[in-house]
Amino acid sequence: MEVKTLQYVEDFTNESDKKIKFCVYCGNVATHTACFSVEHATVIERYCDTCIKNIRSA
Ligand SMILES: [Zn+2]
Repeated sequence: MEVKTLQYVEDFTNESDKKIKFCVYCGNVATHTACFSVEHATVIERYCDTCIKNIRSA
């Protein structure tokens, strides 16, 4: 099983001129960007308010 290490979380703004991004976990509109390190790579995922709390407390 791969180990994801949370590096940082940023607020994410859906700008009007860009496509809306959705939470990778539940599909709601994303409000936060989470950056993880996985082995030697960096992975950026987007989460809604609810799911980011689970990520932060994990
Ligand atoms: Zn979510």
